[in-house]
Amino acid sequence: MAGRTTTKKGDGSLAWLRERNRERVIAVLRTLGRTSQADIARTTGLSRTTVSTLVAELKDSGLVFEVDGRAPDMRGGRPGVQLALQDSPRVVVGIDFGHSHVRVAVADLAHNVLAERARDMDVNHFAEDALDASASMVDEVLGEAGVERAAVICAGIGIPGPVDRARGTVGSATILPGWLGLRIADELEGRLGLRVEIENDANCGALAELTWGAGRDCSNFAYIKAASGIGAGLVIDGRLLRGASGTAGEIGHTTLDETGALCYCGNRGCLETFASGPAIIRLVSDGHQETLTLGRVIELAASGDVRCRRAISDAGREIGVAVAGLCNLINPERVIVGGLLSRAGDLLLQPIRESIRRHAVLAAAERVEVVPAVFVERAELLGSLALALTGSTQTISA
Ligand SMILES: [Zn+2]
Repeated sequence: MAGRTTTKKGDGSLAWLRERNRERVIAVLRTLGRTSQADIARTTGLSRTTVSTLVAELKDSGLVFEVDGRAPDMRGGRPGVQLALQDSPRVVVGIDFGHSHVRVAVADLAHNVLAERARDMDVNHFAEDALDASASMVDEVLGEAGVERAAVICAGIGIPGPVDRARGTVGSATILPGWLGLRIADELEGRLGLRVEIENDANCGALAELTWGAGRDCSNFAYIKAASGIGAGLVIDGRLLRGASGTAGEIGHTTLDETGALCYCGNRGCLETFASGPAIIRLVSDGHQETLTLGRVIELAASGDVRCRRAISDAGREIGVAVAGLCNLINPERVIVGGLLSRAGDLLLQPIRESIRRHAVLAAAERVEVVPAVFVERAELLGSLALALTGSTQTISA
């Protein structure tokens, strides 16, 4: 797994540029239909060498094939081989495992979602059931979209916990108890008969924002998922930062108070003990007759409940302390706040901004803007599609 998504070159800007160039070549092929490398070079303004390298990669990946063009190249080059995009539609599949739901979608390479399914279930404790359900939902979406399994390039998988990409397992026993030791990649590749890429939920959210959302025009940003848990997906020079074993961005377990409450991770005073969904619900539950959910607390805050408002803004302040540290380390252009808690809007975002101003070094704090995510409920599903689309291009460049 790890090898597939590790690019050869360390320079993210180069990888980004290369990806943009590749997209331009595909766009020309899509517009012109059959055409030659020379015409692609002329239309895109790219050098012939660059076009030649990109076309070779696209041919290897099966996205582009040679048409028997008999007319010689009148400009004196070798006989003009015509190129075309593969006719059969190629698609990617995305699977989002939440703690209590499974969502599946299929999308084409033009980034259109063709079909989508969602099912509520106890994913945390019943991994096998969730995996089986996802496989049958993939059958359903492929059927609805009218595409053959052979047309699927890759399946992107989002998991609501740290993912050890080298082993293809969940990196924590406490977050997803039913998934411990399960080799997710192998299990899913077996069930689906597809190549899979796995990523944790915050990284999927970051990929969705990078590809279609608030991070589209931005190559350095931190995506913060604030929901039941708090995680970060970090995009550096246009690429996801994964770290040595794929768990980069576990901001929810930043220590804010060494003598604070015991966290489920085994440490004390982690950010999640102050600002996670369950922590906020615990704070405001006293005195409420109904059993509160995070969504309900946000509704109550929006309708003026002072305790709910205070709990959310305090959570924002604590998240901001941890994010300030992140700003000092990676100096992002933007902090994109997603997850259900982001539905609270400026009630959450304004204290985050204030904490960053208070705790980050001035140069980093002045530069960064804190904005809401474009995607909230479907962020992970769209991110798993983006992962599959990225996975398919990384296969090409590997
Ligand atoms: Zn913790």
